[in-house]
Amino acid sequence: MRLHPAFALLIALTTCVLARIQGVFPVYTIALESSEPVQTSLNTRDVPNNVDYRCGPKIGKCPVGTCCSGAGFCGTSKAHCRSPDCKIDYGHCDAHRSPYGPPTKEIARPHLGQVPFGPTQIRSCAIPGTVALTFDDGPTRYTGDLLDLLDKYDAKATFFVTGINNGKGAIDDLTLPWASVIERMHSSGHQVASHTWSHEDLSKVTPSQRSEQMEKNEAAIRNILGHFPSYMRPPYSSCTPDTECGKQLGELGYHIILYDIDTDDYKNDSPDLIQRSKDIFDHQVLQSDPLTKSWLVIAHDAHEQTVHNLTEHMLKAIKRLGYRAITVGDCLRDPRPLWYRKDTRMPTQKEKPKKPASADPNKAVSWDGSCGSNYTCLGSTFGFCCSSENACGNTSNHCGKGCRKDAGYCTVDVPGNGDAWDPRVDVKGSKSEAGAEIRMLGSAAMAAMTSLLLAFIVAMFM
Ligand SMILES: [Zn+2]
Repeated sequence: MRLHPAFALLIALTTCVLARIQGVFPVYTIALESSEPVQTSLNTRDVPNNVDYRCGPKIGKCPVGTCCSGAGFCGTSKAHCRSPDCKIDYGHCDAHRSPYGPPTKEIARPHLGQVPFGPTQIRSCAIPGTVALTFDDGPTRYTGDLLDLLDKYDAKATFFVTGINNGKGAIDDLTLPWASVIERMHSSGHQVASHTWSHEDLSKVTPSQRSEQMEKNEAAIRNILGHFPSYMRPPYSSCTPDTECGKQLGELGYHIILYDIDTDDYKNDSPDLIQRSKDIFDHQVLQSDPLTKSWLVIAHDAHEQTVHNLTEHMLKAIKRLGYRAITVGDCLRDPRPLWYRKDTRMPTQKEKPKKPASADPNKAVSWDGSCGSNYTCLGSTFGFCCSSENACGNTSNHCGKGCRKDAGYCTVDVPGNGDAWDPRVDVKGSKSEAGAEIRMLGSAAMAAMTSLLLAFIVAMFM
């Protein structure tokens, strides 16, 4: 039978179109699959799991078990659920997790010593010639390096630690490195203070959420040290009088610590910008007289430039000018036993669970900086993360793309999370959700194209 030329052309065209469709579908599928689990940047991993659901004020809550992201999307990814961006009133969040062990609510909180408690906000040190360096939002992967640096300069500092912010997991989770870092802070003579459980703005939450923010962090720190702090700093330095926040913190037995030098380090976390933070510090400190002056400085160990650049600059100046770097409690002349409240119900140090290094009983802790099948970086002195090159360290090369979860801790870049009055612009969340929206548009375009092709084939056969 002879094939009519028109019919042959039709077959050729159909084959061609079908081949295109065969090509289109796999490309579409692979693109979605490869964008989901990669933990390299917020833009590639924040595909909302429930793209149809929006959430937030005037919209409503997310379906049970899903989190409401900072940009108002429901989902279950780390980016949706991590505090403080995650909206605690509109779905599940990291913040809803509770530390193990008995609640601390029952523990007495007498106001002992001469340092005022809340609602008083303390903004300066009391001993001339001292500088209290304070670091908020940690511990993070940079904190170990900061502790090394403080040791090098024989300096003491105060750490306002947050229990479960920025998707780092809970500080008392023994499979993570944080508990051992906090133990090291304490055993090295630094002061461990509270910066709330999940970094919520204490002026914007209810009184019961406020006490929960303090008490959950108390329980987590107690699980690590056996006692919890009587010193705190409110996230975003926000604790306004109209909310009775300060009064409530006073009733919970807290000294509220602010600062008289704000380095603005969270705005300047790049090698090009960090000089601005150094200038802020220098402008105040270099002209001052240690015989009459003292300083209370805020910075954040969540930022690489703070740890690897700004802090050494400050420590050198402190030493050169004849100041001493000491803790907030010391610079306020508060006796050390009053910095903490003991929980006598807890097991003694001997009975406590082992350090995170034992989290993987099948691997020994790296002794030479190498890691992989037999050695883990958790608990090593080379850094928590195991790179794709099998080396321990704390840089993005170690902790980001290619990081080996089987041999250490892996993370993505910690987002900025400063403490100025109103920096809570959800740039990261918006950006990530916008990325997701672009991908959704891409998917819609792909679907529309496929429909057109199908219609074309049908039309050809009609
Ligand atoms: Zn903070």
